[in-house]
Amino acid sequence: MNEGSHAVMGSIFEDLGKKLEETAGIVTNKAGEAMEIQKLKSQIRTLEKGNDNDLVDLGLAVYEQFKAGDAVGEEAAILCEAIQDREATIAEYLQKINDLKGDLQCADCGKTVAKGMAYCPYCGTKMPEPVVEVEEEEAAVQEEEAEKEPETEKTAEADTEAEDPVGAEEKAEE
Ligand SMILES: [Zn+2]
Repeated sequence: MNEGSHAVMGSIFEDLGKKLEETAGIVTNKAGEAMEIQKLKSQIRTLEKGNDNDLVDLGLAVYEQFKAGDAVGEEAAILCEAIQDREATIAEYLQKINDLKGDLQCADCGKTVAKGMAYCPYCGTKMPEPVVEVEEEEAAVQEEEAEKEPETEKTAEADTEAEDPVGAEEKAEE
């Protein structure tokens, strides 16, 4: 639509143009509304995310107070105790994992250091000397990698009567 044609063609086209513009306006408004709704919803999500983060920080702040021995209110204290119990259990399990792997905990930075490391790779603290169990020394060094025991326990049981593990377990429990 250009201005010139409006001026020449007169009011009929002007009216038609107006009507089209109005119709277009309605469509534009509907699309605009949908867009505005999407925009607001997106902003709501951002705000909710912000609240989630701050609620976590709030909880952490309360937990720090609880650990410092400050009064935090009954409901908060119950949650703090549950968190503390879980932390203790997690620490216990981490220790178990370390024991199983033979890993050590750095006395300085507290990080887990793999078995056999002379120094902590995180902070450089010297690790305690490992208890040496290997008796063959120089000859064993080259065979270090080949020391894995081969898995030979796979027995092909052709016996179809092997489908009674319960009986075996009951025997084992006695
Ligand atoms: Zn360290």
